[in-house]
Amino acid sequence: MTDVGIIIGALAGGALIKALEPLKRYNLTSQKVKNRYTVSAAINVLSLHRFWEHAKELIDAKITSVYRSPEVNALVGGVKTSDHTKGLAVDFVARGDKLKAVRVLRAEVEAGRMGPVRQFIWESYKNVLHLGYYPNGKTGKVEYLEQYATGKNKPLGVA
Ligand SMILES: [Zn+2]
Repeated sequence: MTDVGIIIGALAGGALIKALEPLKRYNLTSQKVKNRYTVSAAINVLSLHRFWEHAKELIDAKITSVYRSPEVNALVGGVKTSDHTKGLAVDFVARGDKLKAVRVLRAEVEAGRMGPVRQFIWESYKNVLHLGYYPNGKTGKVEYLEQYATGKNKPLGVA
């Protein structure tokens, strides 16, 4: 390979590594097993993470969970069909006023700035905001729920 070829190859490799960085950020788990991506979950995370970065700034929140392999999901007690196992869900915990964060993020979803959201769930008993997404470029209406206890949902009132 010529020097130019090596340089171009290195640049392309660098760009690829940079493009794949979010994958490392979004499969973290406190469980003692590997949280290995499926190909489709990795693609979903790569196509959606910019919305999550945006929300994180907007509501000053920590992202506490994104991708969970079926094994990790079972260990944390997630429902079997969880969008987290498909790379189609994100959990936020706001640092400040939790209800204000719910209002602000809901408005952002309603304005269409959070991507193809399918479910907006305020898990009020844990202070977690969960967004689930439509797969494969699909869109549709958003379901707004409050989960007030494990497995117990009701329509989310306007806070
Ligand atoms: Zn969640």
